[in-house]
Amino acid sequence: MSSPLLCITVAGPDMTALRRHRDEAAAQGADLVELRLDLVADPDVTAALADRSTPVIVTCRAPWEGGQFKGSEEERLRILTAALAQGAEYVDVEFKAGFAGALIGSNRGRRIVLSMHDFDGVPGDLPERVRAMRSAGADVVKVAVQAQSLFDNLSLLELGDGGASRCVFVGMGPCGLPTRLLPAHFGSEWSYAGDAHAPGQISADCMIKEFRYRENTERTALYGLVGYPLGHSLSPAMHNAAFRAAGVDAVYVPLPAANADDFLEFAKALHVRGASVTIPYKVDLFKRVDAADQVSTQVGAVNTLKRRQTKWLGRNTDVNGFLAPLRGRHQLRGMRAAVLGAGGAARGVAVALSTSGAEVSVYARNPDRAAEVSKLVNRKPTGRDLPPPKSWDLIVNATPIGTFPDLGASPMPAEAFDGRIAYDLVYNPAETQFLKDAAAAGCETIGGLDMLVAQAEDQSEWWIGRRPPAGLMREAAMARL
Ligand code: NAP
Repeated sequence: MSSPLLCITVAGPDMTALRRHRDEAAAQGADLVELRLDLVADPDVTAALADRSTPVIVTCRAPWEGGQFKGSEEERLRILTAALAQGAEYVDVEFKAGFAGALIGSNRGRRIVLSMHDFDGVPGDLPERVRAMRSAGADVVKVAVQAQSLFDNLSLLELGDGGASRCVFVGMGPCGLPTRLLPAHFGSEWSYAGDAHAPGQISADCMIKEFRYRENTERTALYGLVGYPLGHSLSPAMHNAAFRAAGVDAVYVPLPAANADDFLEFAKALHVRGASVTIPYKVDLFKRVDAADQVSTQVGAVNTLKRRQTKWLGRNTDVNGFLAPLRGRHQLRGMRAAVLGAGGAARGVAVALSTSGAEVSVYARNPDRAAEVSKLVNRKPTGRDLPPPKSWDLIVNATPIGTFPDLGASPMPAEAFDGRIAYDLVYNPAETQFLKDAAAAGCETIGGLDMLVAQAEDQSEWWIGRRPPAGLMREAAMARL
């Protein structure tokens, strides 16, 4: 079973830059390089094709299809015809182009990619359009639509014809990322990587190193991170490193879902085996799992899902992950613990501390949410957003304050660190302002990376039955940071 090809899209202000990027893409390991002649000021087919070491797709996209070509349709046709005549491995022509039929006819469809792009969404008549495109006789049909949800990618999945014809399906935008990372699962012959020349496109380096692109086939087991928005999480780097080290044919990808149902539908269709869950779906998916362990039931939230046949099992590894760096080092029983924030993470932290015998006090700007978390651990609401002086031994930042790029921000005034231990759940940067101020005041400090790694190690072990080698996930996370 071979993995799909990787096509790197290149552009540049002029032909010199485009040729340089073409050669860099070849050196990066591209199987195909897409030359975007519409994005250069001086498009020149001969120069584009000369001395190439990798097969190319010549594209000269019209403005009405998302491109930037400034010349006439006649000039575009001349460019694409010349590219075919000079031996380009492929040329890309839009289904809507008035000359598409003539160009296809001129070369009996050979080496032609017939494409359609919809930057607004998934057109209602997509299956009919693709049928018409397939019958036009081009070698390859390419369909790119803006995915507003994971579910939108399923309309691409339904276009597959079991390999009877050669196709490339792309979901554009953040929600379409799975189609870019998993072309074999969507029946695509290749996927495009590059410097964001299309919405949602990511670099070839990231696809290969972080997402195991070269190892993925249609049989590769799928795992992912469900949340919205996802930004650039460290979890794929950690989990994919663990799968690779274990020799498991599996990949972990971002799954930016519009809601819990969106994820569940997608996961069913693609046979997703497991997922990490993050903001804002930890509570919603807890309510949807078929069985939850005791910890997640206590917290009222899951951060990990695993599929067993048609059922979803839920766990919360945040609780154990939070305790990991404290275990064996501190006696939590009787300790006065202040938790800053009252979101999903604060719930897990409060339960972890309370079940370990600490006296938990919750401080947050939203009194109702703070009261809910306090109730979870049978404590009275403090009614405050910061702890009073000399009231804590351990303080935990469970807010996002201080996360990159707000490097100077802290949820606590520097002079208020009058306890023993300060623990920040924020892991980017590794040393937050909160931790710097705490250290300056003489507190012991613990950063969020320890917890991130520990909860991920628990997830990986639950999914594949083996704990990653010590230090592996931390190293992958540090490299990504
Ligand atoms: P969440 O559910 O969105 O909750 C965030 C909490 O912080 C809420 O109480 C929120 O208050 C409060 N908050 C946000 N901005 C604030 C501000 N400017 N001033 C005062 N309070 C503010 O998020 P979460 O899932 O609990 O995550 C919280 C942090 O922990 C994130 O940075 C996350 O990355 C980190 N985390 C780390 C790990 C790890 O493994 N290290 C695990 C989980 C979470 P409102 O309710 O009023 O908005």
